[in-house]
Amino acid sequence: EILMEIKSVDRTYVDANNHTVDALKDINLSIRRGEFLSIIGPSGCGKTTLLRLLAGLDVPESGVITLEGEEIKGPHPDRGYVFQQGSLFPWLTVEKNIATGLKARGVYKKHKNEIAQYINMIGLDGFEEVFPHQISGGMAQRVAIARSLINHPVALLLDEPMGALDAFTRADLQDKILELWKKNETTMILVTHDVEEALYLSDRVVIMSPRPGKISEIINISLPRP
Ligand code: ADP
Ligand code: ADP
Repeated sequence: EILMEIKSVDRTYVDANNHTVDALKDINLSIRRGEFLSIIGPSGCGKTTLLRLLAGLDVPESGVITLEGEEIKGPHPDRGYVFQQGSLFPWLTVEKNIATGLKARGVYKKHKNEIAQYINMIGLDGFEEVFPHQISGGMAQRVAIARSLINHPVALLLDEPMGALDAFTRADLQDKILELWKKNETTMILVTHDVEEALYLSDRVVIMSPRPGKISEIINISLPRP
């Protein structure tokens, strides 16, 4: 079943020298409900641009992007977004950061009792009252993911969430993300330039070529999940 559809999408930018740069050129891609899709490619090929369009943080110049058949009009908690780092509000505790997920939907009062469950799910029991600067980078990324997952998004958009982590922490977070994906049945869309990471985590890998950003290949991985 198709969840999101990207049809003939173009996005250009004007650079500092007033030259027009194609960030994305005629992108076509269908994203299936529940799949773990990775988007890989060299730096500058348009991965973040594509993810921002899926999030509704940016709009295509031409072409259309739909979610469940409806055109995406802007950001919405049905699509969670996790940045490479620094997603958390530094002035809020772990618990309050996760609460902002609920507050964004205006359902904090009704669902605040679920926060403890999500803190447990990401393995951060006991860290409720701690601030982002007091936890490790891997823990902070798990909090950012929990803050999105508590909204039960249909898709979680991950922009190199492991990019700033050391190798051991990265391996831990990869396994945690796989576990959360299985538990929550959320569609995962991961941007990375780490080929091994993409192969380890994904059902399907999309390869983007260098400028102009085009999808050059799609690899279907049919490895059984551990
Ligand atoms: P990636 O995530 O694959 O590294 P990006 O999507 O960030 O690539 O960028 C694709 C291209 O678009 C790059 O050439 C980049 O310099 C350019 N670009 C991205 N965002 C902007 C922007 N806001 N203004 C101008 N150029 C941009
Ligand atoms: P990660 O859990 O992201 O892999 P690290 O490898 O940096 O993080 O840290 C390993 C472990 O150290 C964490 O899982 C956590 O149990 C502990 N730890 C990290 N920061 C703190 C802290 N501020 N207070 C208590 N324990 C911490």
